[in-house]
Amino acid sequence: MSYDPDCIFCKIIAGQIPSRKVYEDDELYAFHDIHPWAPVHFLLVPKAHIPSMAQLTPEHERLMGRLMVLAPRLALEQGCLPYPEGGFRIVCNTGAHGGQEVHHLHVHVIGGPRPWRKG
Ligand code: 5GP
Ligand code: ZN
Repeated sequence: MSYDPDCIFCKIIAGQIPSRKVYEDDELYAFHDIHPWAPVHFLLVPKAHIPSMAQLTPEHERLMGRLMVLAPRLALEQGCLPYPEGGFRIVCNTGAHGGQEVHHLHVHVIGGPRPWRKG
């Protein structure tokens, strides 16, 4: 499992920086965002240090498939209302133009019983 000692999310996954854990298995980790944009806002990440979606290769297809299938289950568990009245938003910022600040691949899962803020 790759680990980048300079990466804040690698440190969170390793337990070296505290986080409010939502989920963990052998290859995925989820934790509440420290600055939530909405009532439900957690980050779902592969444990392996992959800097962004731009580094994904076909060998990551199973891992990323697992991540995407897990996201709606965790969203419901965290309080998102069921589809279609409820739901959630998935955001995966990639690179500078994508607004990525932490360079360890993560998807934001954002939702909750509140109208979306526009703009
Ligand atoms: P992005 O890279 O997609 O712009 O967003 C990174 C996200 O990570 C931000 O929403 C930010 O609030 C969150 N974040 C940054 N540092 C920490 C941290 O130490 N702990 C937690 N829980 N979230 C963090
Ligand atoms: Zn990392």
